[in-house]
Amino acid sequence: MLRDPCGRPVTNLRVSVIRECNQRCLYCHREGEPARTERERLSREELGRVARVAASLGIGKLKLTGGEPLLRRDLPGIIGDLAPLFGDVSLTTNGILLPPLAARLKEAGLGRVNISLDSVDPATYARMTGSDRLAEAVEGVRAARRAGLSPVKLNMVVIRGENGSQIPQMMRFSASEGAVLQLIELEAPKGRLSGEWYSEHHTDLSDVERELARRAVRTTTRRMHHRRKYVVPLRPGSPPGPGRGGKEGAGTVEIEIVRPVHNSEFCQNCNRLRLSSDGRLVPCLFRGDRGVDIAGPLRRGATDGELAGLFACAVSRREPYWTGAPARVPGRGRGLGACP
Ligand code: SAM
Repeated sequence: MLRDPCGRPVTNLRVSVIRECNQRCLYCHREGEPARTERERLSREELGRVARVAASLGIGKLKLTGGEPLLRRDLPGIIGDLAPLFGDVSLTTNGILLPPLAARLKEAGLGRVNISLDSVDPATYARMTGSDRLAEAVEGVRAARRAGLSPVKLNMVVIRGENGSQIPQMMRFSASEGAVLQLIELEAPKGRLSGEWYSEHHTDLSDVERELARRAVRTTTRRMHHRRKYVVPLRPGSPPGPGRGGKEGAGTVEIEIVRPVHNSEFCQNCNRLRLSSDGRLVPCLFRGDRGVDIAGPLRRGATDGELAGLFACAVSRREPYWTGAPARVPGRGRGLGACP
């Protein structure tokens, strides 16, 4: 198994399959990818090759993202190639193109899905995403459930002055659709945190989390990032629509909190490596300078062993972004610049 210089195992790969998107979310970090690149995106075959090497190194979970991954016509084929290699293949999408595709993706081997849904209020949704396709995204949520993707998580980036007051509404909606609500804190690289836009729109989710912890009938902690999940009863007088609710039954909703900013516990428990759409292994969303090119060597005929070496190199460059940090484990990893 791959371990980084801080002793963190690397078990997850987050793969951007496309740079282009069909929305313009006002907060989007674009998965750390620059707006333009001269480099070609990885083909289905190249993705398969890199993924096979990842699987041979003990990476067991794969998340596909973008851009908007559903814009890639060969996505069902990609999932079909990758699913047999990993115990867990999931997707994050804005859901707009999901209704006609969900069943096909499930059949290809997709297990679960995150659907970005910042609001179910049409005006807020349009402002936040730059598109008026809320109805299609909601239909995407329903199609995912019908196809048997499980869980279906709704990603809500909480933005003050936009959807900050709509958490209760999203809790009710998630319960009514049998989905898990994932509340995500607005994140940005350190240099932008003091900027005017970020300061105005960032909502510290610790108060929200304290309130959820107080109301929860059950709390669990995920290994990834030590994210907490709370099963929370809906407020009296707010029935969960068709009555599916969370696992605890009708009248509850499951809420996961993603709170990375200034959170060293989040980074200490990060097991993730990234692959950009143009074929760079990226150790951390906000440490863009440390990427390791894998597309170039792959296209020049590198062996699987050489590609595995590039994984080891990228992993050796992993360092927690938010520290209060775990000690470096002597002898593990070789630091920036020491790679092939
Ligand atoms: N287009 C796909 C989608 O909408 O899910 C995949 C790409 S999108 C960048 C992946 C996830 O990143 C979305 O759930 C989005 O909400 C989240 N995200 C983007 N920018 C963010 C930011 N600045 N802070 C927190 N989460 C962010």
